[in-house]
Amino acid sequence: MLDNYKQTQPIAYKILKNAVSKEKYSHAYLFETNGFYDSNNLILAFIKEILCEYINQENHNSDTCNKCKMIDTGNYPEIEIITPDGMWIKKDQLLKLQKEFNKKAIIGDKKIYIIKEAEKLNKQAANSILKFLEEPEDGIIAILITDNIYEILETIRSRCQLIKLKEDKKTLNVKNTKNILSLILYSKEELTEEEKEKLEKVIKFINYYEKNHLNTIIYMQKLWHDNIKTKEELLIAFDIMILYYKDILNLISNRNIELFNDYKQEILEIVSNNTITEICNKLNILTEIKEKIKYNANTNLLMDKLIIKLEGR
Ligand SMILES: [Zn+2]
Repeated sequence: MLDNYKQTQPIAYKILKNAVSKEKYSHAYLFETNGFYDSNNLILAFIKEILCEYINQENHNSDTCNKCKMIDTGNYPEIEIITPDGMWIKKDQLLKLQKEFNKKAIIGDKKIYIIKEAEKLNKQAANSILKFLEEPEDGIIAILITDNIYEILETIRSRCQLIKLKEDKKTLNVKNTKNILSLILYSKEELTEEEKEKLEKVIKFINYYEKNHLNTIIYMQKLWHDNIKTKEELLIAFDIMILYYKDILNLISNRNIELFNDYKQEILEIVSNNTITEICNKLNILTEIKEKIKYNANTNLLMDKLIIKLEGR
């Protein structure tokens, strides 16, 4: 229920509830999630308000209502979800969507399409959808979702009603997020065994590198590739390394270790072998390479290159 978000997301709640009660919807909504752990369910709750005609009945329960269940499980025929195909949302995906949306709805009079990770709409793909965003047929509602509004093309942004969610760390719900990073940051004890192991291996990798330098490359398979396999894992691993070096930087600048107190001994040793400038350089290199991973599918030899760069060669 949308009402569940009255406290946690008062501004978004007000805008959405107002639209629902007047049955006056924008052509397009752009949700900026800001890492809000429950954003998916909030958006689904909004969609149910739009599509389920039973929702205001007193005995309505979205866990048992057939229509709501279909929406929850992604089986509602008038909802189309677009997710990036590889690194980008492709023009073909959007053309196919528009073709599909030219047909009339089978159930009810509304159709909704959702574009997840909307920052991955590149210019070409975005251009193909601009007109559709601006002058859709009656009853079509677009929902675009992004974690970062600044990565959204201005031409898209200006055509949508922005719904900004606010970050809500306190009520972080483990069941709703598998983001290992937020767990490290806010409640380490909630990590699964597998996640803990992955985290340890990444830290172990850095500790090994700090002792063995270029030789790390020889053992790259065992130290890294056997553990970090998918692109998602790779990005998380880079985030972990960045956070670890930030803590090293904390200690070197006489501040407190924030996240990795368990590794204080190792961090002290790294501090004794590095200058502040060296740590800052390493942080910059990690951040740069992480950006490259985001936008470039080719991660071949990436880790070898990382070590060579960290070594300043
Ligand atoms: Zn329902």
